[in-house]
Amino acid sequence: MYDNVLPPVCCSLCDLGYAPADAEDRRRHATYHARVDKLTAHLGRCPAGYSERERQKEEGRRLLDGATLDEKLRGADLVLTALYDREVLQRLHRERPGPPPSFTSFLRTVDLAAIVGEEMAPRVRRQHGL
Ligand SMILES: [Zn+2]
Repeated sequence: MYDNVLPPVCCSLCDLGYAPADAEDRRRHATYHARVDKLTAHLGRCPAGYSERERQKEEGRRLLDGATLDEKLRGADLVLTALYDREVLQRLHRERPGPPPSFTSFLRTVDLAAIVGEEMAPRVRRQHGL
């Protein structure tokens, strides 16, 4: 009845869009949402959704162009954390088994120089013991 006219929504916690009127979609959301909750407990923080990651990358890139080394390191951290969160959330969507990679393991899989620049890549590697 009224349920059939509910518009699609986007969950503010797990960032998944779904149609509350569709029972199958509600189940899909509940399953995914539970996985995000588990990931949040594992990481000790909620992974950033799409718009927050975009904001972090924009701010991070601005800081990477900053004047001080501290600004650049904070910028690198913001950009890399946004990319890490995207990776771990994509793993949930693909229903990959097992725990997510650690942040350090993730850093080993990316082209740091392409992401944070030739100057900052060695510093980021040292900072994370790589
Ligand atoms: Zn949700």
